[in-house]
Amino acid sequence: MSGALIDGKAFSADVRARVADHVVKLKEQGITPGLAVVLVGEDPASEVYVRNKGIQTREAGMNSYEHKLPADTTQDALMALVAQLNADPAVHGILVQLPLPDHLDSEAVLNAIEPAKDVDGFHILNVGLLATGQKSMVACTPLGCLMMLRDRLGDLSGLNAVIVGRSNIVGKPMAQLLLRDSCTVTIAHSRTRDLGEVCRRADILVAAVGRPRIIPGDWIKPGATVIDVGINRIEEDGKTRLVGDVDFDSAREVAGAITPVPGGVGPMTIACLLANTLTACCRAVGLPEPDGLTA
Ligand code: NDP
Repeated sequence: MSGALIDGKAFSADVRARVADHVVKLKEQGITPGLAVVLVGEDPASEVYVRNKGIQTREAGMNSYEHKLPADTTQDALMALVAQLNADPAVHGILVQLPLPDHLDSEAVLNAIEPAKDVDGFHILNVGLLATGQKSMVACTPLGCLMMLRDRLGDLSGLNAVIVGRSNIVGKPMAQLLLRDSCTVTIAHSRTRDLGEVCRRADILVAAVGRPRIIPGDWIKPGATVIDVGINRIEEDGKTRLVGDVDFDSAREVAGAITPVPGGVGPMTIACLLANTLTACCRAVGLPEPDGLTA
C-alpha cells in the first residue's frame, strides 16, 4: 500500500490564508507588516524567487519593499542599505537573497541584520537562541518541515529523527527544532558510514542533501514519515525534471507519509517567510504572536 502524500501546496495555502487573516486584524489596528527583500545582481533563479516573494507578500496583505542592486554593489553600500532597513519602523522583516556575488561577505551582511527583523533566521544570535531553546526567528525551510511533521504526527516526542544534511540553512536548524520537540536526533552527512542503516532507524526522515534520488525505498523504515527537502534538476526521458533527494516511487511504497518534489517542502518555505514576517511584526508592536505559525 502506498504511503500518504503530504501536500505542501495545500498546506502552504492554508498557512498563507491564516497569515492573511491575522494581517486583516492587525490592519484594523493601523498596523501593516512589511517585508524588505534585497537582491544583488541578476541571477535568474534569484529574480524568480524574489518576484514570487513580492507577489505572495502583497497577497497576504503585507507591504513588500523590493531593493534591486547592481552586481557590482560594494560591501559598504549593501551594509548601508541594511542599516537603513534596520532603522525603518515600517519594515518588520529583512531578507537578503542568497547567494550574493562572490566579492561580498555574506556572513557579515546577514549578521548586520537586526536579529528581530531576521525573518530568514540566519543571524548568529537567532541561531544561538534556537540552539539554547529560546525564542528566536527560525529558518523558513526547517520551520515549514516542522509544521508539516506536527500536523501529520501530532506529538513528536520520543520519535527517532534522522536528518541527512548538516547545512546551516536546513540540516542544523532542523535538528535543533526536532530536538526541541523531544525527538532522538541523528544528523547524517557525506562522511556518515552506512547511511542506509542509519536511515532505516528513522521514524522521521528529513533529506536535505541536494543529490537526486540518493535515498532509495529500501532505506526507509516501514511507516516512516519522509520529508524531502532536496530540489534537483535532472534530464530524464528528454525532459528537464525536478526531483528530490528521495526516490519517490520506491519510498512511497514503504513510507507512512511522504512529501513530493515539487509540491512538498518548496511552497512551505515562502509561506513560512510570511509567517515569520507576521511574527516579527507582532513582536515589534507588542501584540500576541499568531498561534501555530511559529516554532
Ligand atoms: P548543502 O549543499 O549546503 O548541504 C548538503 C548536505 O548534504 C551537506 O551537509 C553534505 O554533507 C550532505 N551530503 C552531500 N552528499 C552526501 C551524501 N552522498 N551522503 C550523505 N550526505 C551528503 O545543501 P542545502 O542544505 O542548502 O540544501 C540541500 C537541498 O535542499 C538542495 O537540493 C537544495 O536545493 C534544497 N533546498 C530546498 C529548499 C526548499 O525550499 N525546499 C530550501 C533550501 C534548500 P557534508 O556537510 O559532509 O558536505
